[in-house]
Amino acid sequence: MEKHGKRIFGIDLGTTYSSVAYIDEFGKAVIIPNAENERVTPSVVFFDGDSVVVGDVAKESSKLYPNEVVSFVKRAMGEPNFVFEYNNEDYRAEEISAYILKKLAQDAEQYLGEKVTDVVITCPAYFGINEREATRKAGEIAGFNVRQIINEPTAAAIAYGTLDTQDSRVVLVYDLGGGTFDVTMIDIQKDSVEVVCTGGDHNLGGKDWDDRIVAYMVDKYQEETQRNEDILEDPDTCQDMQLSAEKAKKIMSQRTKTPISVTHGGERVKIVLEREKFEELTADLVERTIDFTKDMLNAAKEKGYHHFDEIILVGGSTRMPNIQERIKQEFSITPKVFDPDEAIAKGAAIYGWKLSLNDGLIQRLAEKTKKSVEEFANLSEMIETEQVKPEDFKAAAQAVADDTGYTLPAIQSAMLKVKNVTSKSFGVVAHNPKNEEIVFNLVLRNTTVPISRQKNFYTAVENQQTVLIRIMESETSQVEIPIEHAVEIKTAVLNLPPHLPADLPIEITFSLNEEGRLHITALETSQSRQVEVVLDTASVIQGEALEKAKARSQSLVVH
Ligand code: AMP
Repeated sequence: MEKHGKRIFGIDLGTTYSSVAYIDEFGKAVIIPNAENERVTPSVVFFDGDSVVVGDVAKESSKLYPNEVVSFVKRAMGEPNFVFEYNNEDYRAEEISAYILKKLAQDAEQYLGEKVTDVVITCPAYFGINEREATRKAGEIAGFNVRQIINEPTAAAIAYGTLDTQDSRVVLVYDLGGGTFDVTMIDIQKDSVEVVCTGGDHNLGGKDWDDRIVAYMVDKYQEETQRNEDILEDPDTCQDMQLSAEKAKKIMSQRTKTPISVTHGGERVKIVLEREKFEELTADLVERTIDFTKDMLNAAKEKGYHHFDEIILVGGSTRMPNIQERIKQEFSITPKVFDPDEAIAKGAAIYGWKLSLNDGLIQRLAEKTKKSVEEFANLSEMIETEQVKPEDFKAAAQAVADDTGYTLPAIQSAMLKVKNVTSKSFGVVAHNPKNEEIVFNLVLRNTTVPISRQKNFYTAVENQQTVLIRIMESETSQVEIPIEHAVEIKTAVLNLPPHLPADLPIEITFSLNEEGRLHITALETSQSRQVEVVLDTASVIQGEALEKAKARSQSLVVH
């Protein structure tokens, strides 16, 4: 592959499990097993002296060394206050995630005998700017060239869209993973995959189902032993119960009951969990996913999408039979269970493959037309508008087919257009006519990106010297919202010249790119003074801390 351009691997960096895929010589997406010969690797990191252990061993070690093991780090991505302390060193979520990525890459390298350099990493659709940037930084710390961060449901839809016929259709991707729930409507056309709407909850996932079993185990323990002590306060017992609960939950997807034992303080209590009881304990969690789905469908209606053709289920937690039944009952469609653990990594790999073929096409076109590679940045549009001559394109595609051994149709379909929506709204703090401080949203959630929106705001007083621009992120769909409903993600200060009148227009522009990066400019119109903000926020590791993390990641051994 090296000769024909870089292979780009697809990585599903999951809350509970992660996996990596590539495209084999037949153009098929394949999951690469890890060193333990498993297709998914627990996203668990164990700091063990001078080395870092990731995966099954780390997960098992959580019982013995609960304070040295980090799980669910994805929930802390982009979270400014999260640090894990080990041996007097602080580790941010990006760096811990980088160890997971390194483990996947090392095992893949071992398996394929080829270096992993370029990757596409997935993240939940509703990840905001900080979380996406943190995901990218995790990849950089691990030493990768991160080609793109794409949404998990988009990746699933890509995997799905390429496997089926060429018909266009609207699908709902219901993704219930270990720690997150996403529901996304996607419009799949022959050559494009467009996110219509997305919703979900980043604190709802399989772990919550486990927790319900744990709570039940505590109750049963107390009942049996007649002791009222909170056994979860003991970290060993707590870890042990969490692992048993997850195991029991998985068994419950196959069987109608399973024994679980709780061991604490030398005492052992045996419980039998029945599926009916389990479903009763977790019914409200299932309902929450249905409510989020309905909210998302209402938002889709506003964009003119009144129906969908299919529901596909991804994420390990959709294996629970009552999830499938409840969805069928609610929407009168039998959902398709589609590679729930593997679709995302495979879709990311397919996308990476298309990027790499696209690189090849551009390279060939540049050589043929003696232009620079940069001039072909919008290749698909250039072909549509015949800025690239059809015969030149054909020749380039044939050359790439000869280089790679892939078929001509595969090369020609490399220019898959992926359109996305923003999962958050972005605005600034301003005063409304009643002089109340509110957030005025310039970009509303579920708007197709890239998007650029401009609006004039006005200075409050005469001779105002500065304008403080508070950039706010929220999950609402309304233009004006109370400040409490948004979070501040960055501030910028525009200095004004002296002696300006009140009510001077300040033109604020928000531009959001496909990957969720926000670029903001504020322009004072009288003398064209301008501030520019690119959101690389403080919540994400950067500067010296980033360099240190990169160096540390190289000097540490990952198993
Ligand atoms: P993901 O993040 O998509 O890998 O999903 C992982 C979640 O799926 C974890 O909470 C697992 O416990 C859960 N899971 C995996 N297999 C099953 C199963 N057979 N039944 C129920 N939950 C499962």
